[in-house]
Parts: sequence; C-alpha cells; structure tokens
Amino acid sequence: MIRIIKEIYKALISLPAGMLVTLKYLFGRTVTMQYPEERWILPERFRGRVVLIRDEKTLKHRCTACGNCLRACPNASLRLESAVDQNKKRYPVKFTVDTALCLFCGLCVDSCPFNALKMNKDYELAAASREACVRSLFPDGENDDR
Ligand code: SF4
Ligand code: SF4
Repeated sequence: MIRIIKEIYKALISLPAGMLVTLKYLFGRTVTMQYPEERWILPERFRGRVVLIRDEKTLKHRCTACGNCLRACPNASLRLESAVDQNKKRYPVKFTVDTALCLFCGLCVDSCPFNALKMNKDYELAAASREACVRSLFPDGENDDR
C-alpha cells in the first residue's frame, strides 16, 4: 500500500516538473537553424573537403603529382592519376578524395611541399552511394587542360 502511495506521489510531482522544463524551453531563445536557408558561419580554420589550389599568376594548379599527400594520408582516401606535359612536368589529370574514408585530419595539406592543397568550407558531403562519396579535388571539376 505504501509503495502505491509513493508511486502516485512521484507521478504527481514529476508531471509539473516536466511541464516546467517544457515551459522553460518554450519561452527560451530559439536554437534551431532553418537549414538550408540558414547555414553555419564557419571558423577560418575549418577543415572541410580537400581541394587543389591554383597558382594566382599562371592559374594552373600548383600540384606536381609528386604523391607526397597520398603517402601522408593515414586512410588511403586519395587517388591520383597523372600525366607529363610538353615541358616534361608531371601534373594531375584525375585527383579524387573518398569523403567516406577521409578523416579530415589535414595531413595531406601539411605534407604538400608545393602548398597545392587546402581544405575548403564544404561540409555538405552527404551522398546516397559510396561512389558519390568520391569527389574531385579540382574544385571546379576541371583540370588544367595541359
Ligand atoms: S584530410 Fe587526412 S584522411 Fe583526408 S585525404 Fe587528407 S590526409 Fe587523408
Ligand atoms: S597535392 Fe601536393 S603533395 Fe599531393 S601530389 Fe600534388 S604536389 Fe604532391
């Protein structure tokens, strides 16, 4: 009998306690973001998708296809196909990152001796298939056409 009275007492107490919590959030500051109309303002050093950087003067990608970043990547997320131009310089033809494998650690960026890589602010990387997770490192989807 005492146990039943205790249970009833607990139920009577917990109801207004729960309502109080609800009321607190009802009149509190709204924290929900109206995505996609509203988006995060990301910090300067945010690590999003890995992309190649173009040289400001030549407008060619700085990458020399040396493969350093591939060796530095702890998760084997990068794939590179390269070719040699008329000046016998190697350049990337196809360069991809598997965003399903990428740890966003930035080791590839740090390892590049030509400062040819950066991590942009693209965080909308959801994909419907494993194949769609493999994305080009050419930010505009185009290579240099050398
Ligand atoms: S950020 Fe890290 S895991 Fe992703 S491609 Fe670069 S080195 Fe590999
Ligand atoms: S991005 Fe940098 S480290 Fe990677 S292949 Fe190109 S030049 Fe080498």
